[in-house]
Amino acid sequence: MNDSSDKEGATPPQHSDTRLVTAGRDPASYYGFVNPPVYHASTVLYPSAEDFLAHRARYQYGRRGTPTTEALEGALAELEGPQCAGVSLLPSGLAAISAALLSVVKSGDHVLITDSAYGPTRNFCEQILKRLGVETSFYDPLIGAGIAGQFRANTRAVYLESPGSLSFEMQDVAAIANVAHDKSALVLMDNTWATPLYFRPLDHGVDLAIQAGTKYIGGHSDVMLGTVSANAATVTGLKTTVRLTGLCEGPDDVYLGLRGLRTLSVRLDRHFKSGIAVARWLEQRPEVLRLLHPALPSHPGHAIWKRDFTGASGLFSMVLKPVPQKAYYAFLDTLKLFGIGASWGGYESLAIPFDCTPARTATRWAPGGPTVRFHIGLEAIEDLIADLERGFAALAAAARG
Ligand SMILES: *Cc1c(COP(=O)(O)O)cnc(C)c1O
Repeated sequence: MNDSSDKEGATPPQHSDTRLVTAGRDPASYYGFVNPPVYHASTVLYPSAEDFLAHRARYQYGRRGTPTTEALEGALAELEGPQCAGVSLLPSGLAAISAALLSVVKSGDHVLITDSAYGPTRNFCEQILKRLGVETSFYDPLIGAGIAGQFRANTRAVYLESPGSLSFEMQDVAAIANVAHDKSALVLMDNTWATPLYFRPLDHGVDLAIQAGTKYIGGHSDVMLGTVSANAATVTGLKTTVRLTGLCEGPDDVYLGLRGLRTLSVRLDRHFKSGIAVARWLEQRPEVLRLLHPALPSHPGHAIWKRDFTGASGLFSMVLKPVPQKAYYAFLDTLKLFGIGASWGGYESLAIPFDCTPARTATRWAPGGPTVRFHIGLEAIEDLIADLERGFAALAAAARG
């Protein structure tokens, strides 16, 4: 539903910035109000016993969808592009990952998961999928077309996350998808980092594109939301799995997702520019070994990023030159504008310590020094840099003893 299509002679808007404003809107249905109402709903009343028994209703039950959920699903489907055949909303990003995986596997199958995947994705495969008789093996995110060598007769799906959200390896999505499709396997991708504004997975051969809407779609650190976008090959399986498992998202969080979506482009543009500026500044610091930011020319995945992505979000990592642990912690604990906490994609900056070692089986994590992941928020760059300068001063003081 697109309100501008009602106006005679209007051409459908093409640019994603315009679609962010128009998608999933239908003011004519809501007395002209710009935004759809938040339907808090379980019961839907039917006009007759016969209608009830025949499920004859536009909306049947709260769990099965409301005008609010349809507005967000419709808007996301438009952003994902022409290959998108349907979107499901889930109560968290992790629920979106588990629902997407469950929608494609059966007992006896094998799945290939990138070694750089978000940790809880790995846990879901190793614990829940394993219990259901689905085997998981992990592959090097940089494998590209070499993924062919990892396939078994029962390999059903390949799962990507690009870039990895701590370690930032860029994957060759099209090369991996080509091999997978040759071998009749499906391709899933966690696209939380780029959002469909900067990378549209379904255009590059991905069958199921997943997002933690908790991050940039929500954008304000106040919502838990997951989304899965399916192409024609996977949409029925996805919708059936979501329906049969009873997974659904609360109406207020759906509304916050829809509200966040309207400003996604301006926010991401700022995260992109500020993120690059801060990363460039950090890259020049004597305390820093290297930056893990795909939009920097120094990044090993830069060519893939440039080929496939139209922007970068505000999330990247930094490797410090080796320092005593107390100096590493002093840097983080001194920062005032950078909070220490999980998640990202909100308006505020974050900086966390991390170590990928325990979550690697196919590759070895050896960055060469202590690592920090930054999320660059919407604060002024000069204030963020001043804060980081204080952090480096504290690091130096602690290192001296
Ligand atoms: C946060 C995150 C998730 C999980 O999202 P939740 O909404 O916290 O469950 C999944 N993938 C990536 C890359 C994430 O950063």
